[in-house]
Amino acid sequence: VSRRLLVVGAHSADFVWRAGGAVAMTTQGGGLARVLALSYGERGESGELWKEPGQTVERVKEVRHGEAERAAAVLGAEFECLDLGDYPLEIGRDGLVSIADRIRELAPDVIVTHTDRDPFNPDHAAAFHAVERARALAAGAGVPSAFDTVLPPELFLFEPHQPELCNFVPTTFVDITPVFEQKQAAMAEMQAQAYLHTYYAQRAEQRGNHARRSSGDATIRYAEAFQRVTPQVVHGL
Ligand SMILES: [Zn+2]
Repeated sequence: VSRRLLVVGAHSADFVWRAGGAVAMTTQGGGLARVLALSYGERGESGELWKEPGQTVERVKEVRHGEAERAAAVLGAEFECLDLGDYPLEIGRDGLVSIADRIRELAPDVIVTHTDRDPFNPDHAAAFHAVERARALAAGAGVPSAFDTVLPPELFLFEPHQPELCNFVPTTFVDITPVFEQKQAAMAEMQAQAYLHTYYAQRAEQRGNHARRSSGDATIRYAEAFQRVTPQVVHGL
C-alpha cells in the first residue's frame, strides 16, 4: 500500500470506478490520497444531468463537483478539479505546469491515470500523455535541476471501460475486499452516471476471481486491476 497516492482523471468521476478501492486502501492504511480531475466531464460524461430541461454547463459542473467531493470523502481522499474543459480536453502549457506543480507539492509514491489509448473517449489518452509528461517534469532526469524535483513516483494505469481495446494488460491486482462497501458508497454518489455502478461492481468481482487465482489467497472477494508503467525496483526476486 502506497503512503501517498495521486489519482489523475480526465473527468471528475473517472477515479471512483477505476481506482476507488485503491484510494480507500491507501487512506485506511494511514496514507494520503488525492484525486486530481482535469475536467468535470461536464459535456461528455454527465448524461443523466443533460436530460433535465434548461440544463447549463455551470450547473452541471456544480453538481459534478459536489458528487466527486463526496465520493472522494467517502474514500478518505481530497478532491481537486483543474476545470480545463472536456470533449475535447486540451492540456496546454499552463495545464501541464499545474499538474507538475501538484505532483511536486504532494510528492506521491504512486501516480495512477488513464491508458494511452481509448478509442471510445477523446479525453482519456490526452490525460495520460499530460500526466506522463508532468510526472517527468516534476521528477526531472535524476540530476540537479533548475527547478524543484521529487523522487520519481511509480506510474500505474487504471482499468479502462473496455480493456482489450485500450491495450490494457493487468500487471497488478489490488485486493479491495476490506473497502468494497466504501467503494460502493462512493460510486453511489455519482448520480450523473448511475448506469456504471453495476458494471464496476461486477468488474470488481471478476478481478477478485483473477486475483485469487494469481495469488492463491482465497479471502480475496473484490479487486481492482492496474497496469504498471515504470519498472518495479526490488532487492532480490
Ligand atoms: Zn472519463
